[in-house]
Amino acid sequence: MSVLDRAVRDLVIANRVLANEGVLDAYGHVSVRHPDDPQRYLLSRSLGPEHVTPDDIVEFTLDGTAVSDDRPPYLERFIHGAVYAARPEVGAVVHGHTAAVLPYTITDVPLRAVVHDASDIGSHIPRWDIREEFGDDTDMLVRSEEMGKSLARRLGDHSVVLMRGHGFAAAGRSLVMTVRMCVYLGRNAQVQTIAAAAGGEVVALTDGEIAARRAYDPDSPAMRRGWNAWAERAGCGHLLDGQGAP
Ligand SMILES: [Zn+2]
Repeated sequence: MSVLDRAVRDLVIANRVLANEGVLDAYGHVSVRHPDDPQRYLLSRSLGPEHVTPDDIVEFTLDGTAVSDDRPPYLERFIHGAVYAARPEVGAVVHGHTAAVLPYTITDVPLRAVVHDASDIGSHIPRWDIREEFGDDTDMLVRSEEMGKSLARRLGDHSVVLMRGHGFAAAGRSLVMTVRMCVYLGRNAQVQTIAAAAGGEVVALTDGEIAARRAYDPDSPAMRRGWNAWAERAGCGHLLDGQGAP
């Protein structure tokens, strides 16, 4: 199997897993940088992530133009290209509207990494408000390259950026690592909300704890355990690369 075919299969797995684990609803999307051309990325045509198959994966240039495909693309595909253009080390991008995360997009309470599995989200999660650059009469969607670049600027060198009243964008070194981060992003938000409601001080991971966990090899067998288990649970274990579940 070619490197490109493997990337396409992994992107199908990522779509199915993120849908099945409740990270993406019908409107979220996940992409991976093209393995042979860093100036391109792979993303499904406009389709609910639970339905994505290898035939639905389309190549895009970083300005959001589909390469040799005229099927309707996601309106917010500009998020992906802008992040790949700004961050050469990023290998995968997710945009989602995960319900547990939404409260932190509309209040000044910072979303923090509070459980160890969520350490990849980092110690600071910035918030982007589309009104700041594009006024108060947009439909809230990232519909242009200019909007994507604005969002990528606010993301900076962080892993996640919240989008006011909308959702989040997340970027990671590899697809496996980014999917894992997004699964735990929602769970972490849920835990933080429940803990805050219970009262008392909410304790976040320290910078040292986050750094120690981020030093892990993102594609080690232990880190792939979730990927393999979630793929099986999403009904696409047959698309795994045969490395087996550690
Ligand atoms: Zn959106």
